[in-house]
Amino acid sequence: MTDEKRSVIELDHVRKQYGDFVAVHDANFSIANGEFFAMLGPSGCGKTTTLKMIAGFEQPTSGRVLLDGDDVSAVPPYRRNVNTVFQQYALFPHMTVFDNVAFGPRSAKKLDEARIKKDVMEMLEVVRLDKFAHRKPSQLSGGQQQRVALARALVNFPSALLLDEPLAALDLKLREAMQIELKRIQREVGISFVFVTHDQGEAITMSDRIAVMSEGQVEQIGTPEQIYRSPASLFVAGFIGSANLLPATVESNSGQQLHVRTTGGALLNVPQGDATFSVGDRVCVMLRPERLQPAQTITTAGSGVEGTLTDLVYQGATARLIVRQHDDTELSALVDATSLPHWVRTGETMCLVWPNDCPYVLAGWPERAGATTTNVDHVEAAL
Ligand code: ATP
Repeated sequence: MTDEKRSVIELDHVRKQYGDFVAVHDANFSIANGEFFAMLGPSGCGKTTTLKMIAGFEQPTSGRVLLDGDDVSAVPPYRRNVNTVFQQYALFPHMTVFDNVAFGPRSAKKLDEARIKKDVMEMLEVVRLDKFAHRKPSQLSGGQQQRVALARALVNFPSALLLDEPLAALDLKLREAMQIELKRIQREVGISFVFVTHDQGEAITMSDRIAVMSEGQVEQIGTPEQIYRSPASLFVAGFIGSANLLPATVESNSGQQLHVRTTGGALLNVPQGDATFSVGDRVCVMLRPERLQPAQTITTAGSGVEGTLTDLVYQGATARLIVRQHDDTELSALVDATSLPHWVRTGETMCLVWPNDCPYVLAGWPERAGATTTNVDHVEAAL
């Protein structure tokens, strides 16, 4: 096994229960050396609890946590070779930037002062704060304080850095700048970063792999592209990016292709994908808005729907079209605003068409048919 592929963190069927309530069901995955790994999901899905079990602040009810191959389930946080950066970075206000970063190595009493100085200054260079070593935290911006917290957590080169929504306290612009900065720092130090967030754009921008969680379950683990293009469940399809989710029933199956009838009455041709479906199965056809195009007629049978354009919203280079089908299901399309045909007009009948490889089929019907309401165009842009 190459060093990059070596597992730094392994969760072996980890479960966490508070009384009768199961916060984490059966987390069973590993994180490789040097990987940027995000745990993503809505509030309360169990991400922080999972991170705390890796850090040692919580004990699993059952299962094991392994760090660098050793079972650390009974090892206290300060003996685990991982560091955590929290949302509130809690720098010592009376100490300089240098002393804040040097605090850990000095307390450990393992290195002489000359070596500590060298390590601290090297890490301050990585986070680009070497010129601010003498300043106090109150003399720094929020993003700079965040970088001090990172330097402090990285200075003793832990096996992994755990980050619990570390950018949440920053405003949007700074957060976006810090996303790029965090990725650069991670590449430079080569340490695994495990990142908890409920912000899908943030996870997609930075991560090598993402674990999408819902109600204590890991729904899917994959690269941002895998999760976006081939979601494993209706929850993932609706949570990552915006999607059009059309409930349908399988009418025939030719092996590669399915013919499905949507609840709106359209007969669609869709690729079968990895799962096998039978005639009569209830399925959901997922169409990503950026793959849909306006058209006056459906030229390839089974690859389009007709409806009324109810909304046309210009968003700079792109425009969002909302097309309502006869059964009131709405589809959302994200199209190039500079080449919109003149016949695309609110209140008019029009079609939305798509290429053969656009539809993706999932088992079951969505709770809510049509376009998911999230306005997350930056996710499509990031991929
Ligand atoms: P958020 O994004 O809001 O921080 P999260 O996904 O990180 O959410 P967790 O903090 O892991 O969620 O919590 C998962 C569930 O476990 C929640 O329903 C929470 O109320 C519950 N929980 C967490 N800690 C405890 C505790 N000490 N006692 C009882 N329940 C808890």
